[in-house]
Amino acid sequence: RAKDEGGGEHFAYEPSFHAHAEERRKLEFSLRRAIEREELTLNFQPVVDATSEELVSFEALVRWNSVDHGFVSPVKFIPVAEDTRLIVPIGTWVMEQACREATNWPEHIRVAVNVSGEQLVDPDFTNTVVRALSGSGLAASRLEIEVTESVFLRDADVARAALEQVMAIGCTIALDDFGTGYSSLGYLRKLSFSTIKVDRSFVQGAAQNSAESLAIIRAVVAMASSLEMATTAEGVESAEEVALIRSLGCTKIQGYYFGRPMPIADVRALFRRAEAASQ
Ligand code: C2E
Ligand code: MG
Ligand code: MG
Ligand code: MG
Repeated sequence: RAKDEGGGEHFAYEPSFHAHAEERRKLEFSLRRAIEREELTLNFQPVVDATSEELVSFEALVRWNSVDHGFVSPVKFIPVAEDTRLIVPIGTWVMEQACREATNWPEHIRVAVNVSGEQLVDPDFTNTVVRALSGSGLAASRLEIEVTESVFLRDADVARAALEQVMAIGCTIALDDFGTGYSSLGYLRKLSFSTIKVDRSFVQGAAQNSAESLAIIRAVVAMASSLEMATTAEGVESAEEVALIRSLGCTKIQGYYFGRPMPIADVRALFRRAEAASQ
């Protein structure tokens, strides 16, 4: 039919499309076995207070070292996991591991866990969070759930209700990658986010003297502050960027400058050293 319309067979037989679909099928096949094969691990990246530079939390970031594909970036496999709803069991695993690990940290250090829209609309989502907290003994107030604007694209009411439920049990929520999605300020009015995370693209833009990026960060900081929300600058990589971000008034900083995502053992060693130094 497409041929009759003069469109040719460009879609189905376009080689890069075919290769892409084939690669996704292979990733999906392996991803289905990733949990039972124990191929997933968590890394944790520090977030510091912009003024004092003291550690305030760690963000849990999933890592997949696949027997079949080697190391696969979450940028590649999270979308596959979302399309196939494998993100639900993977997300449960991440939530449980992150909460359990955080119980080994000093009590004032919180943990942030990324949650996809597919997880939020799962009817069991709140139970998953409750179980991860009660199973580990972590106080709900130490858990922050990070969502991006995209979770409100489909089933916005269901997503919002799920977030309200986890807030009711004492968790906080952060709006991740702010400014990159289909930004609508509507849900900033409807949901009390504790933190807005300013996307790395604006931080990098500001560092390269982009007037637009600077203006956008200023506006986001002003808006967040009047809504009594904190701001975290993502992707801060140098001392110059730290100074710039601080001058713009962001309240927290995350990025390679203060620490890359690190394996669990490194986080534990860091706290052991801090404890030894304080004695
Ligand atoms: P995100 O939640 O925005 O996480 C921040 C990403 O920025 C991480 O990439 C982190 O390694 C990277 N990053 C942090 N500081 C810097 C920096 O200074 N420079 C640069 N160039 N990059 C920096 P990562 O770990 O590859 O994760 C990518 C995305 O995958 C995350 O973005 C998040 O959307 C998703 N993701 C990761 N883990 C999970 C998870 O457990 N569940 C879900 N649903 N999504 C996850
Ligand atoms: Mg995040
Ligand atoms: Mg982010
Ligand atoms: Mg991101």
